[in-house]
Amino acid sequence: MTEKILEIEDLTVAFDGFKAINQLNFSMDAGELRTIIGPNGAGKTTFLDAITGKVQPTKGQVRFKGRNLRRLSEHKISRLGIGRKFQTPRVYLNLTVRENLDLACNRNKNVLATLFQKPPARDRGHVGGLLETIGLTAKANLKADLLSHGEKQRLEIGMLVAQSPDLLLVDEPVAGLTDEETENVGALLIALAESHSIIVIEHDMEFVRQIARKVTVLHQGSVLCEGTMDEVQNDPRVIEVYLGEVPTITPQQMIILRIAATMAWSDGNLAPEEAEVILSRLSRQFATDSQQQEQLKEELQNHLTQNAKIESLVPQLEEVEDRQLALRLSYEAIASSRRTPNEPAINEEEATAYQRLLELLDLPPEVVQQIEAEVAAELRR
Ligand code: ADP
Ligand code: MG
Repeated sequence: MTEKILEIEDLTVAFDGFKAINQLNFSMDAGELRTIIGPNGAGKTTFLDAITGKVQPTKGQVRFKGRNLRRLSEHKISRLGIGRKFQTPRVYLNLTVRENLDLACNRNKNVLATLFQKPPARDRGHVGGLLETIGLTAKANLKADLLSHGEKQRLEIGMLVAQSPDLLLVDEPVAGLTDEETENVGALLIALAESHSIIVIEHDMEFVRQIARKVTVLHQGSVLCEGTMDEVQNDPRVIEVYLGEVPTITPQQMIILRIAATMAWSDGNLAPEEAEVILSRLSRQFATDSQQQEQLKEELQNHLTQNAKIESLVPQLEEVEDRQLALRLSYEAIASSRRTPNEPAINEEEATAYQRLLELLDLPPEVVQQIEAEVAAELRR
């Protein structure tokens, strides 16, 4: 059996009767990199607060390496090996990068030793390695004040690691960072994951996709679902809680649209004007006014950048009507992406993807033929 670093059972955290965390169950293996996402107010920060002892559970328990953390102080919990990085960097601005790391290395040691002795050679080597890991070797002797926001975030992650925690908790590490810095922080977390257990709370979906292995979705203080990024983002329940922007569409309809859009892109190339036509057509299917159509188009465009697979979408459609509609819209999207008369109606990649779609949809052949014939007739008009 794999060792569990964290086990949370039936956890409830209430503020004046309001349950910010509500009978939550969660567990994580040692060595995992886990991402936690969820809409605003889902309870993500409170979840971390309950682990670090900043708030006390109303009910239930948190076990870290098998030990119940109930009633332990924040300080004690940190000593047990749980390090937390808050959203805003907390580095000493008037110290150099190296001094910040030195200090962090010694935080848990004898204060006098830190004040009066040069760091032992072992620590100097340790700091050197850390500087490399966080990519700040060249800036080791600069005052932290002179670092960019992203570099400060990396320094703070380094300071956390300097204390050798077994479990790292990281709350929204890329909020407000440039794309390049976001990627750097992502690469750093992935590198650290080789030797640490890490929980990352995050909002930025693109970033989540960069780092995600197993994802847990929180909603109203409980775990809504868990899985790979692909599984989670196509789960109808997740679509529903994130769907605030396009309120009139159902999760099932959204999945149908995503399938058709994915199919239209299956050969990986689609001229922008074709893309525009197809996305507009798909958005008109379910959205009634032009504002909603624009929102839907945007949603579909986002979806397409995620390289989702139809394998994780189609099984979500349980109703046979939904499957038929998915087939109709997909066939239409593929067929209409080749309109010049001397081009084949469908190219090889599209044909392969379409075959795969048919297998997944598992509709009777005569139904498939009928739908194809109807769409073909419509397109000829
Ligand atoms: P998230 O980080 O997912 O956005 P939070 O954990 O910050 O969510 O908050 C979850 C819910 O609990 C919110 O509705 C928030 O208003 C409420 N909440 C959080 N902390 C407190 C508190 N100290 N007192 C009262 N309500 C709180
Ligand atoms: Mg929060």
